Amino acid sequence: MPISGLSDPSLFREQALIGGSWTDSTSGKTLSVDNPATGEIIGTIPACTAAETEKAIAAADSAQKRWKTRTPDERAAILMKWYDLILASLDDLATIMTVEQGKVLAEAKGEVKYAASFLRWFAEEARRMDGTIITPPQRDRRVLVLKQPVGTTAAITPWNFPLAMITRKCAPAFAAGCSMVIKPSELTPYSALALAVLAERAGLPSGLLSIVTGEAKEIGPVLTASPTVRKLSFTGSTRVGALLMEQSASTIKRLSLELGGNAPLLVFDDADLETAVAGAMGSKFRNSGQTCVCSNRILVQSGIHDRFVARITEEVAKLKVGNGLDPKNTMGPLINDAAVAKIRAHVEDALSHGARYASAPLSTDGRFVTPVVLEGVTSAMRVSCEETFGPVLPVFKFETEEEAVTLANSTPFGLASYFFTTDISRAWRVGEALDFGMVGLNTGSVSMESAPFGGIKQSGLGREGGHPGIDEFLELKSFHMAGL
Ligand code: ADP
Repeated sequence: MPISGLSDPSLFREQALIGGSWTDSTSGKTLSVDNPATGEIIGTIPACTAAETEKAIAAADSAQKRWKTRTPDERAAILMKWYDLILASLDDLATIMTVEQGKVLAEAKGEVKYAASFLRWFAEEARRMDGTIITPPQRDRRVLVLKQPVGTTAAITPWNFPLAMITRKCAPAFAAGCSMVIKPSELTPYSALALAVLAERAGLPSGLLSIVTGEAKEIGPVLTASPTVRKLSFTGSTRVGALLMEQSASTIKRLSLELGGNAPLLVFDDADLETAVAGAMGSKFRNSGQTCVCSNRILVQSGIHDRFVARITEEVAKLKVGNGLDPKNTMGPLINDAAVAKIRAHVEDALSHGARYASAPLSTDGRFVTPVVLEGVTSAMRVSCEETFGPVLPVFKFETEEEAVTLANSTPFGLASYFFTTDISRAWRVGEALDFGMVGLNTGSVSMESAPFGGIKQSGLGREGGHPGIDEFLELKSFHMAGL
């Protein structure tokens, strides 16, 4: 059943955008997309072929050659027009997102604004891609460092932020003078396609952006093997990130990888209890716990432990699980049945190793999962070393700061981390000691367009957003002028 209630139904597209043409696939094959809240089929998307992916790359390559010659102001003006159009379609884009992804409408609206913010930020950055002048050892030389666009790029994006994970990549790419071929998640393609409709209306040149829908195993290897694609930006699991890195080796492609996390959230005895509870609620249950920066391990010092568990359990009991389109609900469904099975397995594993429910026990209904609080959690349990990606809040008890920092860092991942304290010395000490790309002090939120986002260790390579975001799409050229 197509999405109803859109004020602009033309935003809902069931075709791919390849080299400037909206098209079905020559394969004749389609994939169905369902609504995780109801299980109903929303529509289909073309299962694009390798040849169609090649066509998108070729079009991107030729469009990029013209685009890079446009002035930064011209590029910025188109990005700003796109920004305005996205905000003008906020309600429709949020509805499409909620129907295909499940997150509640209020969060979907938040994501639309967050997604748009990257267009504005990088429109501004387009005008500041300044190079440098070097001091050379020779009297007769001048050496300049120029910043130039990488060229044709590709992106593979996930389902948990169907719009923002696209604009966070394509906004800096277009600002820098690059083109981009995007393969959105097959679970949430309609947000990406709606974004492309608005890009066309904003005047983005034909072919500069393609949205190639379909199966990862058909499209992914074409993007990685293509020598024309000079850079790949990926957000998704560490497993697939490692695979793409391997596949990109043959063409020595530049890579930005934003992969899995296992975020710790530390609550010290001297924390403000209500601030810590609010931060943990936000960082844990946003998008039903399905974000790579969701706190996965809640480490609480013994002196505040019982009060924290009691308060957060009260807050968790207030969450209302249900269809995200209904404004009374505060938490939507999980994306698919496999996600539900993983939650169940993590909770059962923890209980069998001695954890206890502090909240009501887990119950599931289709893809709806009730949020739970577990206490008595230890490092022997799966929740301590695997990303749960769902509404399970596991509480570990610790005694000393040193123990907490060691436990927090004992993971191969290094994306986000959070801690709560009112002691200024501890704030500095712990902030510097946490081995993560992002640290939140007295907050459960670390995402904004103006700060670099990304991880260390097996959480990835590169940074998105902030000033470094555009550098990911720029090459440095040293220009040596001799005999002067
Ligand atoms: P998640 O666990 O969040 O679903 P994935 O890493 O499986 O993360 O998926 C993120 C994106 O990577 C999606 O667009 C998906 O289609 C794509 N993807 C999955 N497997 C591959 C693959 N083998 N090659 C290229 N892309 C892939």
